[in-house]
Amino acid sequence: MIQEKRFLVNSMLGSLVTWLRILGYDTKYWKGDDKEMIEIAKKEGRIILTKDKGVVRSAERGGIPVLNLSNSNIPEALAKIAETFEIDLEFDGNRTRCPICNTPLKSYDSRWLCGRCGKEYWIGSHWADISKKLSEARKIYLRSKS
Ligand SMILES: [Zn+2]
Repeated sequence: MIQEKRFLVNSMLGSLVTWLRILGYDTKYWKGDDKEMIEIAKKEGRIILTKDKGVVRSAERGGIPVLNLSNSNIPEALAKIAETFEIDLEFDGNRTRCPICNTPLKSYDSRWLCGRCGKEYWIGSHWADISKKLSEARKIYLRSKS
């Protein structure tokens, strides 16, 4: 099993938060102060994902793993994260998290329930789009490895 990675994503990359949580990664969304963001990443052992060059520099100075994601295309961004930090781009229903509140979901009867915010998920019409984007991300990732 791939070692558990935890992320801290700043507000410029909002939709990425949802994707990382769907893939089961503990991901915090940060809208506040940059300096505080660096401190939280350090304290909680999180990888910073950002578009902000200033944040990249501060993270590097503080010895915090950071990735500058200038491209906001989701499959490309996910592939880049996988190249750098070896995240798993395959959906696993046993380790997925609530896209809204980051809580690990409990699965039952081919549905998933969030014990914190009460939201329920199932494989519906949006699923085709999710699995298409993930397979695009895997293709880009494999291409980069060859
Ligand atoms: Zn939730």
